[in-house]
Amino acid sequence: MSRMRHIRGRPSNYRKSLQNNKYWNTVKRKVRIRDNFKCLVCGCKIRLEVHHITYYVNGKSILNKELEFLVWMVTLCEKDHDKAHKQFDHPFNPNNPKKLNADEYKRRKNINRADEDGA
Ligand SMILES: [Zn+2]
Repeated sequence: MSRMRHIRGRPSNYRKSLQNNKYWNTVKRKVRIRDNFKCLVCGCKIRLEVHHITYYVNGKSILNKELEFLVWMVTLCEKDHDKAHKQFDHPFNPNNPKKLNADEYKRRKNINRADEDGA
């Protein structure tokens, strides 16, 4: 709940619109299924939340159009969600010019894992 404070540049009625919102519930369900009900950063399965990696694609707001931009949505645990908003250089911080979408993040994570395995 407190993390909503950290979201900058969102419409003032945004928080209200997320409550009991059928569309948002569909977005959350789809993103969680895609991410196998795990935090994409740490892999934990508790206190999962769905995060907007960005609010704008090509200069246009994706709010209430998230189903068309699921790649910019990601499943995070409460802790990593908080970090994503607080750390400017976090790959999922909406204000980070070098932020990564979910596909790109997964791809890079897999590459790193392969490197560690010596593959
Ligand atoms: Zn996490």
